Amino acid sequence: MEERKELMRKIKDEVVMLKKSPLYEFRIQNKNLPVIGEGSHSAKIMFIGEAPGRNEARTGRPFCGRAGDILNELLNSVGIKREEVYVTNIVKDRPPANRDPLPEEIEIYGPFLDRQIEIIQPKIIATLGRYSMYYIMPKFGLEFELEPISKNHGRTFDTTTSYGDIKVVPLYHPCVAVYNSHTLDILKKDFKVLESF
Ligand code: URA
Repeated sequence: MEERKELMRKIKDEVVMLKKSPLYEFRIQNKNLPVIGEGSHSAKIMFIGEAPGRNEARTGRPFCGRAGDILNELLNSVGIKREEVYVTNIVKDRPPANRDPLPEEIEIYGPFLDRQIEIIQPKIIATLGRYSMYYIMPKFGLEFELEPISKNHGRTFDTTTSYGDIKVVPLYHPCVAVYNSHTLDILKKDFKVLESF
C-alpha cells in the first residue's frame, strides 16, 4: 500500500513539473492546480473522465464541481461509496475555457494514466465520456469493439491486461446530464451494471 502511495506521489511530482505540456503555462498563469486523481489505491473500480474543469483546477480534486455532484449521486444510487473507488482523468491539467482535450494533450498525459492503472490494478475501468472510451478501449485490445458512445454506453467488455482480466464499461460523461435529465436517466440505468461486480 505504501508503495502504491509512493508511486502515485511520484506521478504527482512529475505532473507538477510538466513544463513541456501545452497546458502548463495556463495552469501557472491562473494559479491552478494539476488534478492527479483521488480515492482508494486498491480500488476495484476506476473511473476515468476527460480533464479537470474550473472547480477541479482550483481545488486539485477530480469531479468536485457539478459533474462531480452527478457522479456522487450516481454512485449513491447503486450503493457504491466514493472513497471505495478511484477517480481520475486522462488529461491532468485544465484546458482553457473547458474545451475538449487535444490529441497532443492526450498523448502527453496518457502515460501518467497508464501508470495509475498499473498501480491500482482495477478490475473494472469505467470510462466517462467518449475521449476516455476512445483512449482506453484500443489500449486494452478492444479496438474492434469501438462504436460511438451512443451505442457502447452501459455495455461490459471483457479483456486482459498485464495484471489479469478486467472489464471495461463505457459510460456517458456526467457533464452531459447536468442539463439533460434524459441522459441522467440513461446514466442511472447504466450505473446499475456496476452493482453486479
Ligand atoms: N469533467 C471531467 O472530465 N473531469 C473532472 O474532473 C471534472 C469534470
